[in-house]
Amino acid sequence: MSLLVLGAREVEALLDMGECVAAMEELLAALARGELHQPLRQMIRPPDTDTLFGLMPVYRGGDRPLFALKEIVVAPENPKLGLDSHQGGVLLHDGRTGELVAVVNASPITAIRTAAVSAVATRRLAHPGARRVAILGAGVQARAHVDAMRTVLDDPDIRIWSRTPDHAAELAAELGVAVSPDAERAVDGAEVICTVTTSREPIIERAWLHDGAHINAVGSSSPSARELDTATVADASVFVDRRESALHEAGDLIIPLNEGAIGEGHIRAELGDVLIGRHPGRERADELTVFESLGIGAEDLAAAELVVRLARKRGIGTEIDF
Ligand code: NDP
Repeated sequence: MSLLVLGAREVEALLDMGECVAAMEELLAALARGELHQPLRQMIRPPDTDTLFGLMPVYRGGDRPLFALKEIVVAPENPKLGLDSHQGGVLLHDGRTGELVAVVNASPITAIRTAAVSAVATRRLAHPGARRVAILGAGVQARAHVDAMRTVLDDPDIRIWSRTPDHAAELAAELGVAVSPDAERAVDGAEVICTVTTSREPIIERAWLHDGAHINAVGSSSPSARELDTATVADASVFVDRRESALHEAGDLIIPLNEGAIGEGHIRAELGDVLIGRHPGRERADELTVFESLGIGAEDLAAAELVVRLARKRGIGTEIDF
């Protein structure tokens, strides 16, 4: 049996943002139709380190059945070493025989598929014709989100803010976007805001936000950390990648829930419900919308499957007799 191994540089060369956005739309629609089976991810949080280990298994049936597992170590100090904080692999197994058919580097898969899902949310939930974008954070996700916003918005005017001004300045210069000196000025007048930090405390306040803004809240993925304040969440129409994940993992929602500021019914819909027409999405021009992104294994399955298909077509990667 042949196993295809794809390294980080090969994945980056193969996985185009536009193609990944299309794959994420298809995947989220399939998820809404009930075509994937996916338990909550398991997170191993050792007591003596901030580094954690996530296991994200998923099954998709149909004509091309697949089992997939993303196994990912999140090492928050890695950027100081010049490394991506997300390290691991996406393993694809033939859904009929169980054979392991591919191992794909998970760092670029995670970066690109996450930003591509934010792009899908922006296309469906932001104000039509939105151009003014604020990116809060200057790490791996910030870089991928600039690419994603350029892919789905027409001639966007992008501003970046980050806690360490030099990081924002360096990324902005490299990508040809503007820098903001603080988060408040970054979001002032922004029609699309992407929060992509590891902050545990809110980085934006409701009073700063433009009526009708859309927020992709990407950074927080534990119940006790959040990037959005309670007032923003309470005033917003909230959409999620997956309801079960949001209610177990999203501090942005769980903290306001525990405060009694919102109830579970505050979540309008999953993004896939909007894609298949089960929910209309944005309903008013002045509506504040939030897409709460936790990241799910099904997205990794679809992104890795796309990369493997492209790699086999172009003869890229290393085939191993396994
Ligand atoms: P990086 O480590 O590359 O970047 C982290 C960013 O967060 C940096 O810009 C850093 O700012 C900023 N930051 C850290 N602490 C604070 C703080 N207290 N206040 C404000 N900003 C802060 O991480 P990634 O870009 O890879 O990931 C960003 C977040 O997105 C993470 O929390 C990650 O878990 C999450 N994520 C979510 C996914 C999803 O599917 N929803 C998928 C992958 C990641 P600076 O360096 O300028 O100080």
